[in-house]
Amino acid sequence: MKDAILVINAGSSSIKFSIFSSTLKLMYHGEIEKIFESPILTILDATHSEIVKQEIQSAGYELSLSTFFDWLNQQADTIKLGSAGHRVVHGGAIFYHPTLITDNVISDMESLIPLAPLHQPYNIEAIKMIKKKFPNLKQVACFDTTFHQTQDKLATLFAIPKNLTDENIIRYGFHGISYEYISSVMSAYLGDQANTRVIVAHLGSGASMCAMYQKKSVATTMGFTALDGLMMGKRCGHIDPGVLLYLMQEKHYTASTIQDLLYNKSGLLGVSGISNDVRELTSSTDPLANEAIELFCYRAALEMGSLCAALNGCNAFIFTAGIGENSAIVRKKICDRLTWLGIKICNLANQNNQSIISDKNSLITVCVIPTNEELMIAKHTNQTQE
Ligand code: ADP
Repeated sequence: MKDAILVINAGSSSIKFSIFSSTLKLMYHGEIEKIFESPILTILDATHSEIVKQEIQSAGYELSLSTFFDWLNQQADTIKLGSAGHRVVHGGAIFYHPTLITDNVISDMESLIPLAPLHQPYNIEAIKMIKKKFPNLKQVACFDTTFHQTQDKLATLFAIPKNLTDENIIRYGFHGISYEYISSVMSAYLGDQANTRVIVAHLGSGASMCAMYQKKSVATTMGFTALDGLMMGKRCGHIDPGVLLYLMQEKHYTASTIQDLLYNKSGLLGVSGISNDVRELTSSTDPLANEAIELFCYRAALEMGSLCAALNGCNAFIFTAGIGENSAIVRKKICDRLTWLGIKICNLANQNNQSIISDKNSLITVCVIPTNEELMIAKHTNQTQE
């Protein structure tokens, strides 16, 4: 297949990848898990059948990706790579659209590492490795912040001195590639309602919500970094900044201890002390597992209420990503806290993971739409000219 597109979503412990044909048909997809422990490469074909499952001899990014590249080279007869598209978490006040990657672009992306310390370095590492292995391959960066640039200035401001705002310490918002995909397909589920006031809940290992009007971002729950807003798998979401001052001043926490606390030790994992995985927590009988799930849903409902204020109402509420697409329990618990808005879900439809899960008497349509960030990245990679 000529001009296939390799899509890479490189994280701190795993690299997810997809290969699309030039006409955007999925050919292969897979993952390298546990990169810094004992990496395993898994590759599935377009029918989701596993075709490769291989343990990689030693840990680390370089060897993990090289093993995948070796497989790609072996497929040279069927996969002729034309480009690679990357998910990059932070575009800051530099990148406002998908961007062809050059050495200068890499330097600019590196300048944003402090704003996404646990994501951006890995995104860049994968870009550099592909550049080394395939020096002539077109590479495109797609940013999670881009979708939110339609927000009014007020939605982007922190109430801090203007000189800091002028240094671009503002609310950017994330999960934009997922929101852009949902916004591009939601008419098929919602009809004309897609053009009205819609709130999308992206509930994955990271979690956020986005309020959209006429399919454009109006407000979102994440801010300067991917820490704000909803409770997540390992991140606490919104927290009184006074807690952090207290930890620094009275308990002598350093910046790196606080970073580890906020990004890796909080959220569902921190509250339960058991796991960051909703599947494990909802099947546990431990009261702390229950408390973690209850807090997750309570906080999600509060944030949904706040976005209703930003939108002056809501016509449709969409769940997406790992938890949003799969956990009927979490969807029900969140919606049961939103009956004051007139939300009423149909338990059977919810249990069966149907697309529309609201009852016919619900004042707000509640929908489950699978996200597809990879397809969005492949589209942008195709469209970005060299
Ligand atoms: P990411 O892409 O950021 O890694 P995902 O969108 O894949 O995250 O979401 C991962 C999370 O989704 C898991 O940590 C787990 O909590 C949840 N999840 C995945 N599958 C299920 C399921 N069948 N039921 C409940 N939760 C699920």
